[in-house]
Amino acid sequence: MSRRSVGKLPRRYCFALNPYPSERVSQCPKCRKRMHSRKFPLLIHIQEWGWLILGKTCKYCAKCEFIVAHKHELEAELMYAFTKMQPDVIGNDYTVIGTMDRKHWKQGIEGNVTKDSMLDHAADFKSVGDLVIEPARWSSDHE
Ligand SMILES: [Zn+2]
Repeated sequence: MSRRSVGKLPRRYCFALNPYPSERVSQCPKCRKRMHSRKFPLLIHIQEWGWLILGKTCKYCAKCEFIVAHKHELEAELMYAFTKMQPDVIGNDYTVIGTMDRKHWKQGIEGNVTKDSMLDHAADFKSVGDLVIEPARWSSDHE
């Protein structure tokens, strides 16, 4: 990936959005182990608005450092946040860029962090992709 990093911390985590509302991701897309729920401060860029940190519970594989977020849940939370802040931003394109350092995220909640220092304590994802779930096959053999 040649894109310049936005966050100042070293790149961390692989990230995928799960676009299937009815699909619960229980297995890691990489290693097939069980994923656990964990809350991450996600760094999101929203067109014509700017940067946002959203605390979001995601599915996580610690071994692969792989995070999966439900797209419809994420967008519902964005809509909820912007209904209060700035309703005309709802529906704009957005990109989930990375995560923020937890300690500084907590400080940000208390209002002590500027936008620059937010990016100082953020890390871009190593990779970002859409989750692709293979359709079930009519087959009786198992791996
Ligand atoms: Zn894994």
